[in-house]
Amino acid sequence: MQYRIDPKTGNRLSVLGFGCMRLPGKRGAIDQDKSTALIRRAIEDGVNYFDTAYMYAGSEEALGRALQGGLREQIYIADKMPPPLCRSASDFDKLLHKMLGRLGTDYIDYFLIHMLTDVETWKRLCRLGIEEWIQVQKQAGRIRSIGFSYHGGREEFPKLLDAYNWDFCQIQYNYIDENNQAGRSGLQKASEKGLPVMIMEPLLGGRLADSLPPAAEEIFQAANPSITPAEWGLRWIWDQPQATVVLSGMSTQEQLLENTAVAEIALPGSIGEDERRAYEEVAKAFRSAFKIRCTACGYCMPCPYGVDIPSCFAAYNTAASMGKKVGRSQYMNITGAFRPSHHYASLCRECGGCEKRCPQKIQIRAELKKVAGKMEPFWFRPAMAFTRAFSKKGASRRSQ
Ligand code: SF4
Ligand code: SF4
Repeated sequence: MQYRIDPKTGNRLSVLGFGCMRLPGKRGAIDQDKSTALIRRAIEDGVNYFDTAYMYAGSEEALGRALQGGLREQIYIADKMPPPLCRSASDFDKLLHKMLGRLGTDYIDYFLIHMLTDVETWKRLCRLGIEEWIQVQKQAGRIRSIGFSYHGGREEFPKLLDAYNWDFCQIQYNYIDENNQAGRSGLQKASEKGLPVMIMEPLLGGRLADSLPPAAEEIFQAANPSITPAEWGLRWIWDQPQATVVLSGMSTQEQLLENTAVAEIALPGSIGEDERRAYEEVAKAFRSAFKIRCTACGYCMPCPYGVDIPSCFAAYNTAASMGKKVGRSQYMNITGAFRPSHHYASLCRECGGCEKRCPQKIQIRAELKKVAGKMEPFWFRPAMAFTRAFSKKGASRRSQ
């Protein structure tokens, strides 16, 4: 494992950080045994930075349990407080104590304001007294470093950097988003201010690892057949010394093994001109094949009407990159063809709640209409009704 120094604290951080948003198990039902095994294996392999959030259902508790038995002191924990839940000064205390309780610790090394994407929101928190509160928490040792995670536009990022004396920041960054959100210029600016920069979505929710369109995979293959798509994605970031920790949301031992192997060898400044051209061509192929830039983060969920938003988008993208037949079969499976409950796009009632929570600023309602138009032909609803009746019958027979 390589390590990079946090210039603010002197902490020696592993270049690979563990994002605890996609721990093993289903959404909302984390598999604790598998998570514990994965987290402990990561620590054995040298990972010492673990990132979670108040809003990741069950993630803080799962991480806390996995660290029991003396592991907490060996690693750094990053945890994020959601601004929408901060409506009065007392909410800061309430949320922090809940986070500490869930994690089973009495301090958080890297404390972030979650998805802080404009100065106005920061000013609102300042009016509630957050600056004084941070001072008190730092003096008491409950918070060690304060930062923010960012999904806004390029213009706003430097303003937020200047709005407070931050200790670090966290941005979405990968070879597709080089000039999107904070982007390369934002990374540069934060680094020039002496901040460590934590990178999230290095593989765009796994899509740059296992769902590249065939044309993009062929470009990488031709450039170097011994490098996997995940390795291409991670190497692009570690090539840049300004990136301190790269967070990967790992769910399996295989992903951990692959990522730690790359983290051993991907040195800054090691990418050549030919490889740079391959990245550019792959980015072009990716953009033309993928219609909706959903990273499957799940922040938009749950939908009160049952739409499984990320799954709908995933199947739509599959249809665009691999053909309608494959995409539609995926769509039927993941939106509930063989389950008693349904989750397809046309169930959307356009309440708009999900859009406020999407860090990628996806116009979810409009995109769901496109999904329904392409993936739900005239026979779709009758077919779903038939399979629903069939599944219910099967379930009642099994329970007899
Ligand atoms: S806009 Fe549609 S998909 Fe989004 S939460 Fe409302 S009903 Fe669900
Ligand atoms: S639609 Fe937005 S919030 Fe929902 S999973 Fe995709 S990227 Fe995340």
